[in-house]
Amino acid sequence: MASTTSSSGAPTTTTIIKDPITLLSTILRLTEKRIIPLTRAGVSSGSKLFGAAILSRSSLKPLTVSTNNERESPLLHGEINCIQQYFSLPPASTPEEAEEKEEGQVYRIPTKDTIFFATHEPCSLCLSGITWAGFNEFYYLFTYEDSRDLFAIPYDMEILEEVFRVKAPGDTETTLKERPLYNRRNKFFVGRSLVELLEEGTAGIVPETEREKEREKWKKEIERIKGLYNGLSETYQEGKKGGVESASVWK
Ligand SMILES: [Zn+2]
Repeated sequence: MASTTSSSGAPTTTTIIKDPITLLSTILRLTEKRIIPLTRAGVSSGSKLFGAAILSRSSLKPLTVSTNNERESPLLHGEINCIQQYFSLPPASTPEEAEEKEEGQVYRIPTKDTIFFATHEPCSLCLSGITWAGFNEFYYLFTYEDSRDLFAIPYDMEILEEVFRVKAPGDTETTLKERPLYNRRNKFFVGRSLVELLEEGTAGIVPETEREKEREKWKKEIERIKGLYNGLSETYQEGKKGGVESASVWK
């Protein structure tokens, strides 16, 4: 299944979600109840506020929830930390087998049967980690621009621009800047923001007034969850200024 791709080049397994709004609401709840408490502890000890989770695609149950641990290593971004923890779980070859085995233990199911969530659009390191680990569908709450503008962390964009963006013949500074920083839909994965997930989930609602009502309701909820990060960011920035100990080079 992993090798089959649609004509657009996107993995065919990414169209499995039956209800985008259920997925959206599950992710938002998970962020508030599980990821943010972990992040709060992380930022006060000098780690960045990036978190991640891996959910079973069939049950939407969270299998692993983690945050950044750059205090220990500059490579332990929220996503990488999450992937490492996921691979330390005992394996089950199918979601059904995991269900049968259950009994207080969480099992690692094949990555193609999961959905990956990153609180912030994954950087180049994490995009590679997600790809190499076989996750074919991920979502994020904050975009790169948010990380740069709201959190004073511009490195996701800067590394992609400086390391990976190569001028094509005829490119000007303007055309270069207009080009997307990576393929959000490709042979390996489809990456989308929660706002895009919301658009998909509400696109079919008629009449239009109902559609707009539903969209506004969820947009508000997305903004509420984003707002919970304000205090966390302040803690991180204050720690940075105060010279809190961290293995990270690009703070
Ligand atoms: Zn990263």
